[in-house]
Amino acid sequence: MKASPVHLVFRNEAFADHEQIVFCRDVESGLSAIIAIHDTTLGPALGGTRMWPYESEAAALRDVLRLSHGMTYKNALAGLPLGGGKAVIVGDPKRHKSPALFHAYGRYVDRLGGAYLTAEDVGVSVDDVVEVGTATAHVRGIPEGGAGDPSPHTAYGVYKGIVAAARHKHGSADLDGITVCVQGLGQVGMALAELLHEAGAGLVVADVRDAAVADAVERFGAEAVSPQEAHAADCDVFAPCALGAVLNERTIPELKARIVAGSANNQLERSADGERLLERGVLYAPDFVINAGGVICISHEGPDFDLEAMRKDVAAIGDTLATIFARSDAQGLATSVVADRMAEERLAEARNAAAAG
Ligand code: NAD
Repeated sequence: MKASPVHLVFRNEAFADHEQIVFCRDVESGLSAIIAIHDTTLGPALGGTRMWPYESEAAALRDVLRLSHGMTYKNALAGLPLGGGKAVIVGDPKRHKSPALFHAYGRYVDRLGGAYLTAEDVGVSVDDVVEVGTATAHVRGIPEGGAGDPSPHTAYGVYKGIVAAARHKHGSADLDGITVCVQGLGQVGMALAELLHEAGAGLVVADVRDAAVADAVERFGAEAVSPQEAHAADCDVFAPCALGAVLNERTIPELKARIVAGSANNQLERSADGERLLERGVLYAPDFVINAGGVICISHEGPDFDLEAMRKDVAAIGDTLATIFARSDAQGLATSVVADRMAEERLAEARNAAAAG
């Protein structure tokens, strides 16, 4: 029996009580998109638009629901006055992009009247978001009125997170003499490597791009390891800055690092991997907390943009992580579980305050 639309949406295992889900179709431009608004308790739902050649409608729906739910937690724990949302455009970013498609998409975003604020994500560039912005004002992370590329700020947040983790694990925030393995030397990873090098940390690096590895070896005296072995490198901190699902049943037993703290999204393959890390005595900085620098940067955009104030908020990621680590110790819970609970508590407080008038 085929699933009815009700089964596909309201009883979807990733539904998570979304407030609103909009299916968008524009025949002329070929647009098929889904906008998911998970929760607007804290403010308008902010989350990027992903373009991906999903194999089915069900796969696209599941992805957008999962990502949108994640944005609620990320924005809540970053202390932002923003809710969580996300959108997906079904299509191959190499073949199906056109100005008409992004204009049509922008018109749908506009109809939501600011309840959903969009930005770039996998398959959608800043230039594409600028195109969307010709049809709606509800775009973020574009050069005008903003801080530009958020990656250096994401890297700064990860750096502050590594410092907080080192302080918790070793009782000292000094990175001199600490070795960090950075997996992925892209926009975030390379900027992070630079900050770590300046702080006196030793570096082990891995990337599938040989030129990036050679650059880090030359600039920072880093040691190169193969991308497949990065997680098992002999180091104090493993910083995944490339792929998701790098922490799993196979890799966790091979970790030598006692701290995992990096920018990559969805680092845990399964939620049970958070407990696996706890059992192995590995201090894990939950990905959606430590990599919030970009979204914090975007939230500061506007005519009154203040770089110092934004950097201060990004640096506070270290304080949030210190609280998570302490609570994890006190309650014997995985840091990933503690982070989820703290986000839920912030949402509950805001709902109670709203109900109390
Ligand atoms: P990027 O595409 O610039 O860099 C990714 C790097 O990883 C590239 O250099 C790529 O060659 C390398 N890579 C790919 N496969 C690899 C492998 N198997 N082993 C080692 N290296 C590999 O991306 P980015 O903007 O630097 O983001 C890195 C991660 O951080 C992503 O997971 C992204 O979702 C996440 N993130 C980024 C930001 C941001 O502000 N850019 C914000 C939040 C989260």
